[in-house]
Amino acid sequence: MRSINILDEISDGKLYDIEDMVKADTCGCDGCSDCCHDVGDLVMLTPFDVYEITSYLGVDFDELVGDKIQLREDNKILLPYLKMQDKNKYCSFLNKEGRCMIHSKRPNICRMFPLGRVYKNDDFKYFLQIENCPKDNLKDVKVRDWLGIKNYYENKKFILEWHKFIKALTFRLKFMRDEKEIEEVNKIILDNFYRIKIEGDFYNEFMKCLPEVKNRLGII
Ligand code: SF4
Ligand code: SF4
Repeated sequence: MRSINILDEISDGKLYDIEDMVKADTCGCDGCSDCCHDVGDLVMLTPFDVYEITSYLGVDFDELVGDKIQLREDNKILLPYLKMQDKNKYCSFLNKEGRCMIHSKRPNICRMFPLGRVYKNDDFKYFLQIENCPKDNLKDVKVRDWLGIKNYYENKKFILEWHKFIKALTFRLKFMRDEKEIEEVNKIILDNFYRIKIEGDFYNEFMKCLPEVKNRLGII
């Protein structure tokens, strides 16, 4: 997590909540696709992101791995990230016209930009990244409208649970040395959260699955 000092340097110094107004509206971006380049190590895909993308495209998770999604290891945890292409490092979901092919189902991190999240006390707020978007004169917009996330509070509950789980898993794996054991843990994560077919409501299914996986992995 970024420290408050770094946050002061990269933001306008304010924290925003869902009903606040923020100067983040790029008004359609005018053909710019800057934030869709070279973000391969930044856009980690949550199970919700993958559920949205795979349902929209009608494909399985493994059909996207290697082509559009890349598995990356961080702190011994293997998770899916957006795959960048070519020496220009453009996102695999960017089309020739410089538009996102999965715009209505784009990952939450993409949806937020130029906002970011800062986590504190089992909650998070948003901050405005002031240097990263080249567009001038961003307009005022309500955070809720900018994000355009359906069932916002269910989505937020999921994000907080996922964030807590990844933190606990990082701690659990810190002391695990056996490579086969680590591989098995990563397989459990991918199989249970990413390779599943969800018939009903994503959030219900996730909340049902989470305690079972935690139990298997010895995470409280
Ligand atoms: S960098 Fe800013 S203007 Fe360019 S695509 Fe991203 S949000 Fe839009
Ligand atoms: S998923 Fe879409 S919005 Fe996100 S980086 Fe790729 S092209 Fe851009």
